[in-house]
Amino acid sequence: MKVIQTRKTHQTGTVVDLVDRGSNDDGGGRWETICVDHGTVCSHETRALAVRFAPSPLDWCEVCMDINEQVKESE
Ligand SMILES: [Zn+2]
Repeated sequence: MKVIQTRKTHQTGTVVDLVDRGSNDDGGGRWETICVDHGTVCSHETRALAVRFAPSPLDWCEVCMDINEQVKESE
C-alpha cells in the first residue's frame, strides 16, 4: 500500500489520502481515497476515479456529510 497523494480539500477542510493498494486488491478496487480526519475509506476501480473523488469527500465520507448537514442547519 502506497500513498500517492495527500491533500487538504477545499470542500471540507479535511485531509484526503489517495492510496494505491497494489497487489493487495481484495476485489473492492485497487485505488482508495481515505478521509484521514474521519478514517473513512472509499475504494475505486481506477486511479482516474480515485483522483476525481479525492477532492470531494462530501460524495463518499459519511462523517463529512453529517458535519456538512449540521453546518447547514445552524446557518
Ligand atoms: Zn470525512
